[in-house]
Amino acid sequence: MLENDNNHALQSQQQVIKRLQTIHQRQRVGHAYIFDGSNGSGKELIASYFTKLLLCMDPKENVPCETCHSCKRIQSGNHPNVVTIRPDGQDIKKDQMAELIMKMTKKGYEEGRKVYIIANAERMNSSASNTLLKFLEEPEGNVTAILLTDSYTSVLPTIQSRCQRIPLQPMNREAIIEALIQQGVTTSLAATVTMMTANANEAYEMTQEDSFVQKRKLVLKLVEAIEQRSPGEALLFIQTDWMPLMKEKSDCEQGIDLLLFAYRDIVAVKAGLQSTIAYPDQLETFTKHSVKNAYSSLTVKIDAILQAKKRLHQNMNRTLLLEQLVLTMQEGLLFV
Ligand SMILES: [Zn+2]
Repeated sequence: MLENDNNHALQSQQQVIKRLQTIHQRQRVGHAYIFDGSNGSGKELIASYFTKLLLCMDPKENVPCETCHSCKRIQSGNHPNVVTIRPDGQDIKKDQMAELIMKMTKKGYEEGRKVYIIANAERMNSSASNTLLKFLEEPEGNVTAILLTDSYTSVLPTIQSRCQRIPLQPMNREAIIEALIQQGVTTSLAATVTMMTANANEAYEMTQEDSFVQKRKLVLKLVEAIEQRSPGEALLFIQTDWMPLMKEKSDCEQGIDLLLFAYRDIVAVKAGLQSTIAYPDQLETFTKHSVKNAYSSLTVKIDAILQAKKRLHQNMNRTLLLEQLVLTMQEGLLFV
């Protein structure tokens, strides 16, 4: 979805690009590579860049020219020596792999190197994997494989061992926020989801979930209830609003994380570090809370949230856990 967000991806992969340029410069191009990186890290884009570099008719200082016949055909997906396959339905099947190998070994194609790209390589089924393995065991002189995956460990170890691994950098938070905003996500929601995950696609999907957007609202209401220091109201809120939406443990954990980010924000605002906050839309309210709370009391509150998170995994009654958390935060004393 955000895989093709070109500029951000290329900018955050400078080290990988340098490594590929060195390979090209030394003319030590391997038979097979695995580009391994999370969704949104730009695997397809880097694979296309490397393919262009390998086939470019006029590269300048190890950069593909982007204008020659070869570069242009790779860009438009029409180069006869370049084949990309991706899962057909759930997985990559043996037939697809056999056809790919046929194309890579067939004579009569253009001279020069051939490149094949296998997207979502972790989804090759076992017969496709075995077919590929046989091909990798008998490398053809001028054929290069580029396997793309966001789950390196799911690729068969025997295939891993025949490929050079090129790990991609995870996208940085600002780049993901920017990409999400371009997809129509609000700045505030983008800021919050990127605290929850460093995976651009996962972040995007979260922004599209009603339940996540509701949780975010609920957490902000809880912060207000806690800061108003009216225990009755906060406890009632836990029972009537929070618990119905946070039935599952995973929901509750997400809720506690969101609460944690809120208090980290209040600390950040207090310290004048506003650029990294998770709830930019709450700046005004959080500024008020930051004035009202001493650092020591914010520390106690954050500790209480962290403890609650730990207890969540000890299978404690969740309503009780939240009630204790709220009371602890309101009294400013750590519950033990
Ligand atoms: Zn070129």
